[in-house]
Formats: sequence, structure tokens, C-alpha cells
Amino acid sequence: MSVDLTNPIFHNEDAARAHLESVRWPDGPVCPHCGSKYVTRMAGKSHRRGLIHCNDCEKPFTVTVDSVMERSKIPLTKWVLGFHLMAASKKGISSHQLHRMLGITYKSAWFLSMRIREAMGLDPEKSSPIGGDNKVVESDETYVGGKKKNVHRGKPEPKKHAVVTLVERDGDVRAKHVPNVTARNVKAHLTASVDKASYLMTDESKVYVKPAKAFSGHSTVNHSKDEYVRLGGFVHVHAAESFHASVKRQMYGTHPAVSAWHLQRYINEIAFKWNNRIALGVDDTARTVAAIKGAEGKRLMYRQPRQAT
Ligand SMILES: [Zn+2]
Repeated sequence: MSVDLTNPIFHNEDAARAHLESVRWPDGPVCPHCGSKYVTRMAGKSHRRGLIHCNDCEKPFTVTVDSVMERSKIPLTKWVLGFHLMAASKKGISSHQLHRMLGITYKSAWFLSMRIREAMGLDPEKSSPIGGDNKVVESDETYVGGKKKNVHRGKPEPKKHAVVTLVERDGDVRAKHVPNVTARNVKAHLTASVDKASYLMTDESKVYVKPAKAFSGHSTVNHSKDEYVRLGGFVHVHAAESFHASVKRQMYGTHPAVSAWHLQRYINEIAFKWNNRIALGVDDTARTVAAIKGAEGKRLMYRQPRQAT
């Protein structure tokens, strides 16, 4: 299903707000300050549009309070379109393109995109581990940044940044930017993200030897011998490689200049799109709704952009 750009939610501020409210509060407004549903809409002319009063804690709020949209001056129609464009763009969308398509400044587009990436990030308190009984979880590493051909003569080659990807076959991914691929970093990521009952599939790197002992089983793939598939097609890390192909497409194709500081947010966006992919029955509209839902309870304040993509 594709989106209808003539939908009023992209053009009318009240329609955009009603849409955001229906996604966040399907059963009616809930006070973000105290959780009460005993609230009153302030419809008077002197009130800010969308203002709701909590009759329990007596505090006012709108749908953007306690979300990545809080205190933003960008119109809600542009937020709704921004969420849609980012959730529906397979290879990602640059801040320059958002700036042109949304008719907002480049700086605003950058802030908006980083906040939407924050919304797409997993909430560690709500996300469950991947894998489990009779489930295979693949682990593999990739490196992004620092393409030699982009370096001007005489300048040092920029550092490549490591991403450790854990992915359940036919399931979700958890990908993490790590300063270095060490046993310690790999173990921390595995412990936080993968159910111990899982069967682990990794490359032959020594970093997995110890951490893998905590899991129900472990096989290794020897990349260097071009031996990608063993034991009747069981031993491979194709899912992780497929995720890495999306990472490279987006990071080299759309965001070639992302700094280490922000890389995790871009990885979160790519992982979000993987975890809400069409093969799982999630279309562009449902993926956008999932991103808007993720906006709740997260806030992100930047003083200024640190980069130019
Ligand atoms: Zn309240």
C-alpha cells in the first residue's frame, strides 16, 4: 500500500494532530505527566490548539509533550510527512532532501531527522531479547566509513567504524556500533540482546569463543575459505550479511559523512526498517505508525548540528 499525499494529515494542522493523537492514544488522551485519563480538551479561543487539561494533576499537555516532537516549532503536518518519508525510504533520506521536500531549513530538517531516528530506536526497557529455543541467531561484523577514494591526497584515511550485528533468522536484528570488535564488547551486546537458549552462528573470530559458551550451541563460518554454507545449508550468516548490505547502501549511498558520534542513530533507523519489513507484513503505513508510536517517552535536545548529512 502506498501513501496518499493528498491526505489532510500532510496539509492540515488539526488533521495532523488528530492523527498523532489517534496513534499515541487509541483509547483517548492520557496525561503524560501522571497517566490519568480524566482530562478535558481546552477548546476555547484563547487556548493553544490541541491543549488538554489534566483534571488530576492539573497540568496542561498536548500530543507532543514527552515525545521527540516536544518543544519543536516545526508544524505537525511536516512531522507527519517526515515520519512517513523516513519510514518508507528503503535507502534512507538525507537531511538535504528532507529540507527541500518539507520546505523547512536544512538545520530544522537535520533536527527532525535525528529525532525521528531516536523514535525509531529500540526502547531497552520494552524490547525483548531475540532468539530462543530452537532459534538460530547469527552474529557478524561490518565496518562503515572511511572510503579510501573519498580521501584527498595527503590526508590520512578516515577511521572505519565497527558495527556488530545480531540477527535471528527470519526475525529481528539488534545492531550496535562498538569502538572495537573485542570479546568484551561482543559479549556485552550478546548478553543484552540474545536469549541464552539460542543457537549461535558466527564467523571464526576468536572474540566469540568465550561468549558463545553461554548459548545452547555454536557453529562457525569460515569466511576466508569461501565456505559460506555448510551442513546442508545450516551454517551461514546470510541474514547478518543481508542486513549489512542495507547498512552499506544507506550509509554510503545516502549518508556518506556520518560521524562516529551519530552512527548508532543511523544504525537504529536501518534496524527499525529491518524489524518492520514488508516480508513480516509491515507496509509503509504500518511502519510509519510504528515510528510515531516510538516517539512517545523519548526526548532529544541538540544545541546544534555536528555534521552535514
Ligand atoms: Zn495528569
